[in-house]
Amino acid sequence: MELYIHIPFCVKKCEYCDFVSGAYDEKVRRDYSDALIREIGMYAPAFSDASFSTIYIGGGTPSWLEADCMDAILDALQKHFNIEAEAEFTMECNPGTVSADFLHMIKSHGVCRLSIGLQSTDDAELKRLGRIHDFNRFLHTYELARNAGFYDINVDIMTGIPGQNKRTLTRTLSDVIRLKPEHISCYSLIIEEGTPFYEKYAEDLERQRRGEITQYLPTDDEEFELYALARQLLFEARYEQYEISNFAREGYECIHNIGYWRRVPYLGLGLSAASFYGEHRYTNTTDIYEYMDMVNSGEKPLASDVAISRQDAMAEFMYLGLRMTEGISRADFAAAFDMDIEVRYGNIIRDLVSRGMLTSAGGRIALTPTGRDISNQLLCEFL
Ligand code: SF4
Repeated sequence: MELYIHIPFCVKKCEYCDFVSGAYDEKVRRDYSDALIREIGMYAPAFSDASFSTIYIGGGTPSWLEADCMDAILDALQKHFNIEAEAEFTMECNPGTVSADFLHMIKSHGVCRLSIGLQSTDDAELKRLGRIHDFNRFLHTYELARNAGFYDINVDIMTGIPGQNKRTLTRTLSDVIRLKPEHISCYSLIIEEGTPFYEKYAEDLERQRRGEITQYLPTDDEEFELYALARQLLFEARYEQYEISNFAREGYECIHNIGYWRRVPYLGLGLSAASFYGEHRYTNTTDIYEYMDMVNSGEKPLASDVAISRQDAMAEFMYLGLRMTEGISRADFAAAFDMDIEVRYGNIIRDLVSRGMLTSAGGRIALTPTGRDISNQLLCEFL
């Protein structure tokens, strides 16, 4: 199984962020850590036979949690769960929120992979996103991480930032590539309703129409060109694209994420965390006070428990698996569902192959590069 732990704390909320995260005071952070440790203990008996091949501590900004709280959480994980000796153990962190001591402490608990949220090396773009750091702070954090002995680092970058253009994106990528991180994730900015960014975006579009501003969010076509540029530059720098938004040097693909796309069962603990096992999907409450109350009164902090039907499981197998460059295996589908994939999806597969969007060879089915470009549209066909 895989394990996910959610730490919902950030120095401040970024303008575009709709994750379950926020700036809370130290008392809440400490109370939450205690509750999380209780939740870990609550699930431990039911998972005593499971062995965990990956752990991912995400957020939020896990590195913003007090070091002694993180230390206690990591202790609890080691005490309660069977973590494989070679487990991939990732922690997310943000520039400017880590110290050398913190990094040494998490490393001593087995954290071997860091995922650093950079987004851009252009300080004006970082400011527009409402990030707390500039490029120099990122460089400092990156150096601290290398000095602490982290040799598996992901750097997140973003396309579609307001005002971003091919020149600034090229500079961001060359700045990052020069540092030689083992893994680079490249996501496009999604403007989510309910975020300050959404309000601003609506306003900006209006002002843009009136010709009052030149700063803008890229159109879909421009966004696509930026993504294609990123892909090209990463390819030239020998990063292999193993999933729509993820690029890695050989051997450094994120095993935790691959497990998610392959529908490996996972246990998620913490505020809003989702779990997937026994063909059920469980989701914890997103209200931090309710979360703490429920856990402290001995109740699992679940907000939903949904049984996944066979049809839905098949659809998930397809649209998650096809996100990966290697695609899916016909034999794996047959083994999982005791059914030939042709019976369920033969028509769709033949249609997409004839349109040049899918390849089907050697027992595997995968998106072509053209198919990957419009993957969102194509993958819906399997729903
Ligand atoms: S650091 Fe990440 S989780 Fe925190 S507010 Fe910004 S985008 Fe959201």
